[in-house]
Amino acid sequence: MHIYPDARSVIRALAPDEPVILNRPHAAARAARFFVEKFPGKSLYAVKANPTPDLIEVLWEAGITHFDVASIAEVRLVRGLLPDATLCFMHPIKTPGAIREAYHQHGVRTFSLDSVEELEKIVEACRNPETGEAATDLRLAVRLRVSSEYSELSLASKFGCDLSEAPLLLQQTRQHCDWLGICFHVGSQAMSPFAYVQALDRTRAAIAEASVVIDMIDVGGGFPSWYPDLEPPPLEDYFQIIHQHFYALPIAYNAELWCEPGRALSAEYSSMIVRVEKRRGEELYINDGAYGALYDAAHVNWRFPVRALEDDLRDPDADFAFYGPTCDDADYMKGPFPLPSDIQAGDYIEVGMLGAYGAAMKTGFNGFGDAQQVVVTDEPMASLYDGSRARPEVDNVVSLR
Ligand SMILES: *Cc1c(COP(=O)(O)O)cnc(C)c1O
Repeated sequence: MHIYPDARSVIRALAPDEPVILNRPHAAARAARFFVEKFPGKSLYAVKANPTPDLIEVLWEAGITHFDVASIAEVRLVRGLLPDATLCFMHPIKTPGAIREAYHQHGVRTFSLDSVEELEKIVEACRNPETGEAATDLRLAVRLRVSSEYSELSLASKFGCDLSEAPLLLQQTRQHCDWLGICFHVGSQAMSPFAYVQALDRTRAAIAEASVVIDMIDVGGGFPSWYPDLEPPPLEDYFQIIHQHFYALPIAYNAELWCEPGRALSAEYSSMIVRVEKRRGEELYINDGAYGALYDAAHVNWRFPVRALEDDLRDPDADFAFYGPTCDDADYMKGPFPLPSDIQAGDYIEVGMLGAYGAAMKTGFNGFGDAQQVVVTDEPMASLYDGSRARPEVDNVVSLR
């Protein structure tokens, strides 16, 4: 990948017709070091947030050794890049073929499940194909359904067993493994550490009812990044409260604590240069959108930060909406995105904080979706990790008991 100082130097050098993804390896490495040093347990990178090979290698070099993979393609990708990484297959519904390949060919031992059917599937798929003997080295994690009420994007309806089913499933799973964990996901961009308190309370109830030994608690993803209108409390508050509630659980004395950040490790990694192709009032027609890296801006009205890259725009900001390049009316991003009010066709814009669920969402629909990737060395539009951020005095900062 070519290296440039910043977005402005990219447009000067390339005058790009297509969007350009700007990657900041230094920002991802800093996020990884933050989690490695400050999270009181092990941090797995959730690959689905952004599977760019360079990012995966940067995270590994910065100390992330475990990866949360959810499909056989992600297993193959990470194994191909990192022969020594520990891969954990944390999708609770897998195909038998995917489990077999992951276990027998890629050394995957950790699997999640939320039903007895999935448990049986895993046990069958991991048998020794010659002797038919059951695997003795499985590490299984039962996914608990928890509330997403503190999060911007819910993950509460699709996966996870209910509290009423959890005790029996934990007991049944314990019979097939020497290492049993509980995992959950509080939803993405959790705006309060209390999300994890609530989930850990549920975990406690399940363990008490099941009376089984638990070797690992995985608090999942959900750790926030920064976006306009979504300024979270410091991540240290999340870590502290998770640590405290983890220690109070009735679990094995040497039980491990895990987390699976996707967004928090990757959001600052990428931004994107787009160009205005047409202006109609306060609507800008740009060359990326709902079927590209701005999927969340269109579909869940996510407000990514923006800045104009032209030096000659001087007017105060006005609020704009965007249309993407495809012929579909749904290719629309309401915003509002504040940009200089004299912006016009031909001007370039940088859209920030697209490393998580942005760059990864691009499709080729309608022939659009090409984007060159380059490396830039300047700072992301915002960072939770550069030490610049004062402790925000927001209402939901927790008082630790
Ligand atoms: C998506 C996902 C993650 C990452 O979530 P973020 O909110 O991006 O941190 C972690 N674990 C599982 C099981 C997931 O599905």
